[in-house]
Amino acid sequence: MSYTVINPATEEAMETVEHVDLEGVDAAVALATKAQKEWARLNPADRAAALRRFADAVDGDVETLAQLEVRNSGHPIGQARWEAEHVRNVLEYYAATPERMFGKQIPVAGGIDMTFQEPLGVVGVITPWNFPMTIAAWGFAPALAAGNAVLLKPAEWTPLSSIRLGQLALESGLPEGLFQVLPGKGSIVGERFVTHESIRKVVFTGSTEVGKKIMAGCAHQVKRVTLELGGKSANIVFADADLEKAAATAPYAVFENAGQDCCARSRILVERKAYDRFLELLEPAVKGVKVGDPTLESTEMGPLVSKGHFDSVSSFIDSDAPVAFRGSAPEGDGFWFAPTVLTPTSRKHRSMTEEIFGPVVSVVPFDDEADALELTNSTEYGLSGSIWTRDVGRAIRIARGVESGNLSVNSHSSVRYNTPFGGFKQSGLGRELGPDAHLAFTETKNVFIPAD
Ligand code: NAD
Repeated sequence: MSYTVINPATEEAMETVEHVDLEGVDAAVALATKAQKEWARLNPADRAAALRRFADAVDGDVETLAQLEVRNSGHPIGQARWEAEHVRNVLEYYAATPERMFGKQIPVAGGIDMTFQEPLGVVGVITPWNFPMTIAAWGFAPALAAGNAVLLKPAEWTPLSSIRLGQLALESGLPEGLFQVLPGKGSIVGERFVTHESIRKVVFTGSTEVGKKIMAGCAHQVKRVTLELGGKSANIVFADADLEKAAATAPYAVFENAGQDCCARSRILVERKAYDRFLELLEPAVKGVKVGDPTLESTEMGPLVSKGHFDSVSSFIDSDAPVAFRGSAPEGDGFWFAPTVLTPTSRKHRSMTEEIFGPVVSVVPFDDEADALELTNSTEYGLSGSIWTRDVGRAIRIARGVESGNLSVNSHSSVRYNTPFGGFKQSGLGRELGPDAHLAFTETKNVFIPAD
């Protein structure tokens, strides 16, 4: 079995990737199980040094990784370089972990009580196609740091940067079998991660629909699971905000990566008295987004990832959600979709409730703080969001009231490797990144030693 990878900006075939079958997964698990035991036995400083060497190898390969993402995923080159550098940063950050896997010493009667953080064993990481290498690193770096082996299954459409990371791991001297990249189908490789008894945890990033299946499948073995799923995040703009800044930045909070971003602020909620003025200011900002050839340094937004996805995004444009205005996009080959602003007639229109995962945003008015919160929280998701106001008290009230894992005030913060990331409600389960991420790849063991 194999899959021909397409360049979404040109529709040209790039290369054919061999898919791993069930026997291939099982062989990889056997190799990983052996490698993990040796890795966990290494002294912490040696594990830290090995991860730093992996980070150095990524650092030396930033341009190659970025170019692969430009061609395989259509990401603009500036963004793709950021992504490759982010992988290096994540590895460097978690390289400090092996020497800081502290347990606790707990005061108890009659002796000493202490806890240890033990690795889980082999961890399966399943990634989506939208940010292939960054999302992979959020799983594999803390998992390796905590003493686990990792099998990574990239998405069918965008496996190339992950395959390259697997090669870099080996070239940097990471033990064979410890980190393996297994391109293949979700229904084969991904499902085997769920059913194989020697895989002790699945980290899944992708759609809420598939995430639920994975969670249900993992329940049979009480397998640990982290889920990073869909989003329908709100950008909440109060009338007292710096409207010029809010409007100038709003397009980049939803159209970055052509809207194929789980954190995309795809609903802009504007206090009614500022609604018309905000739309006036938003129009030139949307029309100013530079959409085009992702190999150019000046490009801000590239194409959608595939024809199938282009059709799915197009289906959101209908007469109940009139197009207020659109930006521009190239014509001809490539899955191009111009940035699009909708003004739905109902808050229940599917553009307000479903994840579009493309460069389409809905703008609707709200009345007051209570209405803003009700509207914001009226989806099954709760991943991200932004709050624009000059009133500090209101910023705090709204930030505490929004049911979402990652918020920013008067800004649209992107993901940082040193702060926790994850979703409320059906946007996910567990947290990645930040100072505690490695703990999600360990079991806490308690040991008591009597003093007599
Ligand atoms: P998807 O759910 O279709 O696929 C994700 C991965 O799961 C792919 O590698 C796929 O091959 C695999 N898969 C599919 N079926 C499977 C099965 N039955 N068992 C095991 N694995 C299976 O998602 P997608 O279309 O690749 O990605 C888009 C989705 O990812 C969006 O919903 C987006 O919001 C979400 N996402 C979430 C985050 C986050 O951090 N919360 C980040 C990025 C993307």
